[in-house]
Amino acid sequence: MPPLPIRNPDVKYTQAFINNEYVNCVSGKTFPTINPTTKQKIADVQEGDKADVDKAVDAAKAAFKIGSAWRRMDASKRGALLMKLADLIDRDMGYIGSLETIDNGKPYKNACGDIGFAVDILRYYAGWADKITGKTIPINGDYFCYTRHEPVGICGQIVPWNYPFMLFILKLAPALASGCVSILKPAEQTPLTALYAGALIKEAGFPPGVVGIIPGYGPTAGAAITNHPDINKVSFTGSTEVGQLIQQASGMSNLKRTSLELGGKSPNIVFGDVDLDAAVAWSHAAVMENMGQCCVAGTRTFVHESIYDEFVKKSAAMASNRIVGDPFDEKTQNGPQIDDVQFEKILELIESGKKEGAKVECGGEKMGDKGYYIQPTVFSNVQDNMRIAKEEIFGPVQQILKFSDEDEVIERANNTQYGLGAAVFTNDINRALKFANSLQAGSVWINCNLAITPQAPFGGFKMSGIGREYSEYGLQEYLEVKNVVIKIPQKNS
Ligand code: ADP
Repeated sequence: MPPLPIRNPDVKYTQAFINNEYVNCVSGKTFPTINPTTKQKIADVQEGDKADVDKAVDAAKAAFKIGSAWRRMDASKRGALLMKLADLIDRDMGYIGSLETIDNGKPYKNACGDIGFAVDILRYYAGWADKITGKTIPINGDYFCYTRHEPVGICGQIVPWNYPFMLFILKLAPALASGCVSILKPAEQTPLTALYAGALIKEAGFPPGVVGIIPGYGPTAGAAITNHPDINKVSFTGSTEVGQLIQQASGMSNLKRTSLELGGKSPNIVFGDVDLDAAVAWSHAAVMENMGQCCVAGTRTFVHESIYDEFVKKSAAMASNRIVGDPFDEKTQNGPQIDDVQFEKILELIESGKKEGAKVECGGEKMGDKGYYIQPTVFSNVQDNMRIAKEEIFGPVQQILKFSDEDEVIERANNTQYGLGAAVFTNDINRALKFANSLQAGSVWINCNLAITPQAPFGGFKMSGIGREYSEYGLQEYLEVKNVVIKIPQKNS
């Protein structure tokens, strides 16, 4: 059970966090953060840009200097600090969850679920801190050769708005476990929980400069991070278009290492040999979770012709019954979409689906005027060439497509620029293995979906990204391998 919510949490921090202090931004500018449930302003937040990123980089350089407290700290102590941060977040879950709910609009119980998941991620990476080891290598000749896995340095970490706190921690935890220092930029739509984390980072005992948090916009604060000559690595989660800009800026500035977790249009393939109700429920959750604002949402539901009509009927019934409303009500399953831009984009794509001949089985409209609410929507009769089958909608909109043949559906599922996730529902083990091997995606789920955990890698094939997050693979994104060779003197040489 999540702690009781605070409907009107005080906003304690709206300034940038640099050198373990909250400070105003150099320009003195602010930007409003809006509650998507009410469209009302919650607070004005300091608007960082290049000058603030420069200040945070100076602090990060001092924190990462050879001989600094952070560089000299035992790896086990780094792990203990991460563990302490996890405990503090756990302690404040009710407050952080409430703040996330007003800033993002997601149901409070889901917000708390995200915070709990962030705690799990921190504890997972805390355990890694003193288990990062190199190898000894028997090279040719009289040498002693070993590798050191060293922190890559100053990391710039750019976070989107769909899982604001959880993704902030997913970026931070492996960076700190590996001994890096980090400058994070939360999304302009949802800066509040990340800014609160600054106070907990300080309370946990991290030295000044190890973590900087700069609120602001992408083309200014975000671009200042990706263009900065002294930032060694960028980790980004967000749209494919912005991912391409970041990769370009990272390359042109100083060949920053990049890890990018980008868009998706994940296939969710259902055969006729499964428990139909369970497959309907999994497929529904795969697209409706977080109001459809999930990069790996299973938005292309391919259903075998033998069960197509029944599957569509049951999916429409489930979507119509989904409870949409006040995010603080514990029965609520969907809150509003994040902002007017996303809201209009989703409605426009729904209209395109109607025009192109897909059938609206339920939903298809906005709800009320108070917040950015959209009805859970199910389309049947969807064809591969329709915009709703190709473009990332990022809303509560399920596309149900029909297929008849295994090889046909593999080809159709892979016929996309994206490759983040894929799911297959079947009770035939041979078919499951064939699909696991054939689908072009960073995660393939069989008889489940969105099974994401701290221990297993997650990331994209093709234009869904570069690199992996979570797991040991995610840690390696923050490490440089150094090879050391020592001559062993021989008596007679
Ligand atoms: P979405 O489409 O999900 O809103 P974006 O990719 O636009 O996601 O944004 C995700 C994050 O990237 C946000 O923190 C945003 O401010 C940042 N961002 C947007 N444009 C840029 C840019 N040109 N350079 C760096 N960061 C950016």
